[in-house]
Amino acid sequence: MGDNQKKSNSNKKKKKRGGSKKKMTVEQSMAYRRVSEWVFLGSPDSSAMDNDFGVILNNNSKSSEKLVFEFHSHTICSDGFLSPSKLVERAHQNGVKVLALTDHDTMSGIPEALDAARRFGIKIIPGVEISTIYCPRGETGSEEPVHILAYYSSCGPTRSEELEKFLANIRDGRYLRAKNMVSKLNKLKLPLKLEHVAKIAGKGVAPGRLHVARAMVEEGYVENLKQAFTRYLYDGGPAYSTGSEPLAEEAVQLICETGGIAVLAHPWALKNPVAIVRRLKDAGLHGIEVYRSDGKLAAYSDLADAYDLIKLGGSDFHGRGGQSESDLGSVSLPVLVVHDFLRMARPIWCGAIRGILENYAEDPLQSKFEQIMKFGRTRVFVGGGSLAKGNSDLIDRCLSSWLTNEERQDSVFEAIKLKLSGMSINEEGIQSATTTNSLH
Ligand SMILES: [Zn+2]
Ligand SMILES: [Zn+2]
Repeated sequence: MGDNQKKSNSNKKKKKRGGSKKKMTVEQSMAYRRVSEWVFLGSPDSSAMDNDFGVILNNNSKSSEKLVFEFHSHTICSDGFLSPSKLVERAHQNGVKVLALTDHDTMSGIPEALDAARRFGIKIIPGVEISTIYCPRGETGSEEPVHILAYYSSCGPTRSEELEKFLANIRDGRYLRAKNMVSKLNKLKLPLKLEHVAKIAGKGVAPGRLHVARAMVEEGYVENLKQAFTRYLYDGGPAYSTGSEPLAEEAVQLICETGGIAVLAHPWALKNPVAIVRRLKDAGLHGIEVYRSDGKLAAYSDLADAYDLIKLGGSDFHGRGGQSESDLGSVSLPVLVVHDFLRMARPIWCGAIRGILENYAEDPLQSKFEQIMKFGRTRVFVGGGSLAKGNSDLIDRCLSSWLTNEERQDSVFEAIKLKLSGMSINEEGIQSATTTNSLH
């Protein structure tokens, strides 16, 4: 405990990335090598990786340049303030190399983020932050909201319809919840209108507490967002309402079953972190957030160790502006932490990609193809070649930024490719798929 405390304090002091030039240990150098290999897979210069990692990094960078990962971010597709493209642009400006987009209960921002990421040479991890509820069963403690982060591969979730239905249910619940919050506020003599909240959320975006808070500020019922939360909207507050969130363990199970990595978000916001971690670990939880822009939180790091969970963290950037908000890329994750994450995630992602492609090769429906391309549009498709070749090329390109040559030379992938290149492909399918691509 004492040691961890010290470590956490020294992390806090060392705010600037790469501020102190400490020599990497052998373990760190190995981890750095493996992480950077994955980060730059499929990028044009990745062949140069072996002798010099630095080639594709910004200005004269050396092999010790920090590989910035951002694991937690939001856009206007949920309650963030930036569009997916703007978010990616900002991430790039902040030196982020890998960005996980984790909007609340939706993955609708991923295709736009992928397109922007291609322009900036950033890698996107398709993610989502799922709103759930923890219900103590016999244990002491009270019911409380729990956010679970999910990280998927470049082919997205397996059984994607099931996940989409799960998320759509939660989003529907959010409309009802916003309505309940507004009516509670009305009873408290704040005549806020639901239309105002819906307008702030934007078309097709499920309203959240932050949208309600913004409407309250605009109407002048409170001075700022913080006041809206501390007076009315906090968990259990006078205008708080739950939606129809699933149980936290259900979300974790579904993430595991659909080829994702499940990570408990901001455990420091929980009333019963230990009971929740224990319950979720049984459901298959992979990790918990432990790092913030102010450093590693020793208590949660110990909790992760106790339950053999990986440690992660991200800025939870919403683009609200203001001094207190942590910017994209501001959470400094040690290379060993990122390495542990990838070591856990890559075999799971590899299995998911294999499953999705096998399923497509067996039954090459247009809808399945589009689903794959939704998450895997890493390059612009520029026609040419036979259609069959185009199809297998596209899939190859999908894979090349996520799997190493070795992983791709797996016999199952070879068989899938063979199957795809050998069959006659629905001409319409390919054509309409490329049209869809160019529309975004
Ligand atoms: Zn959250
Ligand atoms: Zn978040």
